[in-house]
This record gives sequence, C-alpha cells and structure tokens, in this order.
Amino acid sequence: MTTIAARAREAAAHLHTARTTAPEHRKHATARARARLRIATLLALAPTAITTETDDQRTTELNTALILSAADPADPGAVYRFSILDPRFHDDTLHLLRPCPACGGEVPVREVRTVVDLADAHRPVDIPADSPLPAHLADAFADDPGHRTPCPAAP
Ligand SMILES: [Zn+2]
Repeated sequence: MTTIAARAREAAAHLHTARTTAPEHRKHATARARARLRIATLLALAPTAITTETDDQRTTELNTALILSAADPADPGAVYRFSILDPRFHDDTLHLLRPCPACGGEVPVREVRTVVDLADAHRPVDIPADSPLPAHLADAFADDPGHRTPCPAAP
C-alpha cells in the first residue's frame, strides 16, 4: 500500500511534469493536470490512468472545457467520462457524462462530488422528457450542447 506522503509526492511530480513538458501553455497544462489529479483522487487511480481531451462542444471563448475519462482497471469495458467546464477553478462542478435517454447524445446526468455519487452510475438514466429534473442539474442537462437536435428532453 502506498503511503499518503508518497501519493502526495506522486501528485506533485505529475503536476510539475505537466507544467514543464506539456506542449500547451503552462496555465492550460496546469489546469489539465489538476483536473486529472482531481479525478484520480476521486477514483483512487494513478493520474496517468486518467485521459483528458479538450471538450470542443462545451468550450467557449472564456474557458477551455475538458472531458476526462477513466477506465476501471477492475471492470474491463467500464469507462467513466466526466465534464469540467472550467478546470482553472479547483471547485468547478464535475459532471458525469452519459447518453441522454431521449436523443443518445453524451450529456451531464449528475454532479459528482465524491465517489458515492457514482454508486449507480451505470444504471440506465431515467429522465423522462416531461418530468422536471432536480434544480441543481436541470440547467446543466437541458442546456448542454451534447444533445442531438431535436431532443425532446432539451427544448
Ligand atoms: Zn437529449
């Protein structure tokens, strides 16, 4: 078992490597590495087990959104994908991405703050088009550009 101190050193080394070797601008590399560390910590995986990609659908002129993916090493085929709209902020909302039940587009279906929020992550998403979503997720779901048009769940 790895000690907490060793894990902290590993995280610091990961961040340092990203800052000094990534081909992108240092602030983007740092934000990307911090987001990767956040997911790695959440899932108790090594930072190198998390892949990041620029989320072109959710990126605006003000922020570079990311999609982070983690394959479950104990469950072949299980992949968790997360969206962070502005990874420069350490506490920016993290959303689990899943197919929309109405259109099949990949959209945010729940906020993730701890691993507990993933307890039923692979249960089919049940969001009928005519039923209101929880207020904290309604805007993130309905306004997400991941829906395919027309989508009855995202009027
Ligand atoms: Zn949809």
